[in-house]
Amino acid sequence: MENFRFYVPTDIRFGKDQLDALHDSVAQFGNNVLFIYGGGSIKKSGLYDQVLAQLAGLNVTELSGVEPNPRIESVREAVKLSHENNIDVILAVGGGSVIDAAKVAAAGAKYEGDAWDLVKDASKVGEALPLVDILTLSATGTEMNRNAVITNFDTNEKLGTTGWNLIPAVSFLNPENTFTVSKWQTAAGSADIMSHLFEQYFDRAEGTDIQDFVAEGILKTVIKNAPIAMQDPTNYDARANLMWASSLALNGLTGKGKKNGWTVHPIEHELSAYYDITHGAGLAALTPRWMEFALDATTVDKFAQYGENVWGIKNDDKMKTAKEAILATHDFFASLDIPMTLQGLGIEEDTKFAEMAAEAVRIDALDKNAYAKMTPADVEALYRATSEEFSIDL
Ligand code: NAP
Ligand code: FE
Repeated sequence: MENFRFYVPTDIRFGKDQLDALHDSVAQFGNNVLFIYGGGSIKKSGLYDQVLAQLAGLNVTELSGVEPNPRIESVREAVKLSHENNIDVILAVGGGSVIDAAKVAAAGAKYEGDAWDLVKDASKVGEALPLVDILTLSATGTEMNRNAVITNFDTNEKLGTTGWNLIPAVSFLNPENTFTVSKWQTAAGSADIMSHLFEQYFDRAEGTDIQDFVAEGILKTVIKNAPIAMQDPTNYDARANLMWASSLALNGLTGKGKKNGWTVHPIEHELSAYYDITHGAGLAALTPRWMEFALDATTVDKFAQYGENVWGIKNDDKMKTAKEAILATHDFFASLDIPMTLQGLGIEEDTKFAEMAAEAVRIDALDKNAYAKMTPADVEALYRATSEEFSIDL
């Protein structure tokens, strides 16, 4: 196990009827609040009105319209509003996109230059305004971590940044706020949670039983509860399990002590940066192909462990267990109605795959700590494999 710092000071307010604490959670940082949200789901659900009622007496500036795959332009606008209105605290209400934009805006408000610098180079992320959030979609884990992912469509770049001051001060996690999440976003969010776990589980660090057994438990939780939430969107316990799974999958619990050579995320970020697709759906389509690529004599034990402990597969032959586990992973995502090819996700052309592969490898140095080292040609082949129907020789 590697050395690590685990520092997650987020005050989690989980469950129903917690919103009475919102006023004081925000006002502890000052009276001038920047309230950031997305394209209007919170107005439809009624959460918007509840939030404004709670903020009575504070000076509220609003920024709406933060888009999925949040753009640097939204972040710049939030920074501008922060300066103009002498903002003390940011309140983000929405999914990962809204919260990520708010995080970089929080740091951008305390930074002299352009906020895009903070995305390109995390070492420039310093002080930040305090951030309070109300999560409305279970997926990213951003509600309890120091990461943010921002897109610049001018340069076709989707990049992650990070900073200790980006961790939300308070996160309100009410599963009821996710009752209105569509089947599509529920499926994509669940795939994102599972991908975060896979990125950390299939890792070159050794001696990490605690992280791995916890990850297996969270994976089983998502596999059990995602189909229930899709069938029965107002099932409180299914939504609650997915929500807490989203936070625990990426707050360091299963990743600290690992080498963290993430692979599938940077490969997916290129798809989102070029084609603006839904992050979790892209991950779902890529994952079984990546697993097939990564499976060999040196990794078979871990894939077999995954098959046995998460899917309950038992064979004398570990390779067979591993392959059946990969097929089970594919079939699970397909059962959530995620199209499992790039064409199904609306990506018809293949002319940019080489360029995207080179970028994915350059940005995240896939060869350094990666569980399975990948060259640009390997990544390009992965995009091509994801263009075909999935099959695996058992
Ligand atoms: P999202 O992009 O925040 O939201 C997707 C869609 O769901 C939006 O159209 C949004 O509509 C809608 N939505 C949200 N809550 C809803 C609700 N309660 N009811 C109905 N519709 C709702 O989705 P996300 O998966 O949470 O975030 C994805 C982004 O996070 C990607 O850019 C991804 O790369 C990034 N990410 C970040 C991390 C991290 O650690 N920071 C990790 C993984 C991924 P409205 O706009 O109308 O609200
Ligand atoms: Fe993700």
